[in-house]
Amino acid sequence: MSTHDLTILLVEDDPFARALLEQILSDEGYRIKMAENGQIALKIFYEESDIDLIITDMNMPEMNGLELIRRLRDEGNDLPIIVLTSNREIKTAVSAIYGGANAYLLKDENIEDTFVHAIEHTWDHYQLARQKHSLMIKLEEKNQELERLSFLDGLTGISNRRYFDMIIDKEWRRAGRDRLPVSIAMIDIDSFKLYNDTYGHQSGDDCLKQVATALKDALFRPGDFIARYGGEEFVAVMPNIGLKGAMEVAERMQQNIKRLALPHKRSDVSEHITVSIGLACMVPDHKTDTTQLIERADTCLYSAKDQGRNRICHTK
Ligand code: GH3
Ligand code: MG
Ligand code: MG
Ligand code: MG
Repeated sequence: MSTHDLTILLVEDDPFARALLEQILSDEGYRIKMAENGQIALKIFYEESDIDLIITDMNMPEMNGLELIRRLRDEGNDLPIIVLTSNREIKTAVSAIYGGANAYLLKDENIEDTFVHAIEHTWDHYQLARQKHSLMIKLEEKNQELERLSFLDGLTGISNRRYFDMIIDKEWRRAGRDRLPVSIAMIDIDSFKLYNDTYGHQSGDDCLKQVATALKDALFRPGDFIARYGGEEFVAVMPNIGLKGAMEVAERMQQNIKRLALPHKRSDVSEHITVSIGLACMVPDHKTDTTQLIERADTCLYSAKDQGRNRICHTK
């Protein structure tokens, strides 16, 4: 919008000054509305929604310029406001700036030269500030989105290893404070290399997605979560849950995978895709950390593989 398309509300109690300023503004092609004091200005502002900019005198009966600015800002209006002031009121004008005015303008003999320039300058500045503000908001949204994406696995859409590493430490500390157990499940697809070799990498990817969803669907409690640990391996974290509860989750996972019934004709274990699961449960104390918990679950997973796959093994 060019500054000349603006509708300006001029608030001035002195009829002589008002006539002079109106003349300057209309010569420049601005649309003008006029008010004799803050009270009337507020009324016009709210009745006519097309006001782009306000120019207001300071000393006026009923409601002065400062009060007008305070009211407008308190009510959440951010339109540009220029304060008109006689020389001795500079101090007041400065306080008007602190109160939310965008600029102040001296009512002196140069007013005819400075007036239009001040309006243009204030308007441009206001537009730039608005653009900057909306860019900042967009940037903030993008950053949040990037942050969210940085914790997701690109293929399966579930959380990734980075998220797991961050959350597991948090849960561990919390469980330690509350003296509660933390259970984790390490889940690995059986003979997945063979699956890729048989059905192709693309089908392998598709299988990973379906398995991820099936595993995720086995978690019911809001505190539980699943992440892709790497390759065809997943990890579930179940805070405040003992071995018995974790077993139930793991069994539900295997049932969900079974229900997928994804054919795997060359698997030694089954005609369909299966998973092996290692479960570990610990109550954190000052001698242990998450490394031990993960190692124990890993050891159990390897026992499950050793014992013939498609099964759940757990710590004692
Ligand atoms: P085991 O039963 O002992 O777990 O045998 P496995 O074949 O499942 O295990 P191995 O570690 O030998 O092979 C894992 C395979 O997973 C090899 C690798 O190509 C495949 N894989 C890992 N990540 C991806 C992926 O993102 N997409 C696909 N399609 N395959 C993957
Ligand atoms: Mg006055
Ligand atoms: Mg495997
Ligand atoms: Mg593996």
